[in-house]
Amino acid sequence: MDINSSNIEAIVRQVLSDMKGTQAPAGTAGGSIPSSARVAMLTGLERFELKEYPMPPVGDDDILVKVEGCGVCGTDAHEFKRDPFGLIPVALGHEGTGEIVKMGKNVKKDSAGKPLAVGDKVVTCMIFKDNPDITMFDLNKQNVGGADVYGLLPDDDVHLNGWFSDYILVRGGSTVFNVSDLDLDSRILIEPCAVLIHAVERAKTTGILRFNSRVVVQGCGPIGLICIAILRTMGIENIVAVDGEAKRLEFAKLMGADHVVNFKDHNGIEALTSAVENAFGGYLADFAFQCTGSPIAHSNIYKFIRNGGGLCELGFFINGGDATINPHFDICAKEITTVGSWVYTLRDYATTFDFLKRAKAIGLPIEKLITHKYPLEEINEALKTNLKMEGLKIAIVNK
Ligand SMILES: [Zn+2]
Repeated sequence: MDINSSNIEAIVRQVLSDMKGTQAPAGTAGGSIPSSARVAMLTGLERFELKEYPMPPVGDDDILVKVEGCGVCGTDAHEFKRDPFGLIPVALGHEGTGEIVKMGKNVKKDSAGKPLAVGDKVVTCMIFKDNPDITMFDLNKQNVGGADVYGLLPDDDVHLNGWFSDYILVRGGSTVFNVSDLDLDSRILIEPCAVLIHAVERAKTTGILRFNSRVVVQGCGPIGLICIAILRTMGIENIVAVDGEAKRLEFAKLMGADHVVNFKDHNGIEALTSAVENAFGGYLADFAFQCTGSPIAHSNIYKFIRNGGGLCELGFFINGGDATINPHFDICAKEITTVGSWVYTLRDYATTFDFLKRAKAIGLPIEKLITHKYPLEEINEALKTNLKMEGLKIAIVNK
């Protein structure tokens, strides 16, 4: 048999087109989609139930995604415990990722213009509303705070609205990104990492954060740890991490902090400030990231910053109460430039994909941030583990 390169190409093309099922009108994966899907529905406080719903029809602009995994967010934990948004019954899970198994005929590209096909791995960001400030991908105008996202939607008759499920129906008008070039752990970490990409972009607007800056990161939960990793990928190496837990501080070193300070070892703000100063070899920080939700931590952080330095406050994702500062000593006399940061923009989402690749390339063990993985059936345990503040990132991973 005479197999030359041109007929091999033809065979490969034929096999690929069979695999993608391009002959089928809606681009199905071909026969492998079950007739129903399980969704973890939060039906009461601290109670998820696995509900089975018929697989919905996939419209011309829709994408059916088989869920591979989804991170548990602090927001999920709040909703699980108290239902502050009044969403129950609700399909939660907004840090998810999975594989396209079927898509409508109008779906050709993702929100960044990358082609989409059955078999591609995707994540979603916000669902477009009528607000032009948050629908423009190219304009970095407004963060997505207040926009709709899958995993925080009211229940409807589709039900497949959250990533804690077997399948999710991504409807037309949603932002979706092709992230086939990232592994599953990286894809699960995209959403929390985007929060930090945004914070660092906000910090850069002060003009103070530079290549050789001394940076203090206060709080070494997932947010602070990712912050350290991002600073490292930007070439910032003088990083001091502050936290009260030795285990988290060890992790901060893995993520790229070269010195750590345990605030429990130092009595009072003056002693703590000296410890931070000593960690920088006798200097205060040029820039600080405040990554805890503690009002006292906010009050303290100004002391760590030099005259003319900068601060990015991003720890108060929800209302954590009032903090006391002395405007004269803390802000005016030192001429500190402060920025606040909350969630992210669409542009930050796309930047995050590059950050994750770069972090791997320089050997940062980003995937170790996922300390616990649970199957969908154990979602109640997963949320309870999160509430106990055990581990770092908890994830649901489907088989
Ligand atoms: Zn989240």
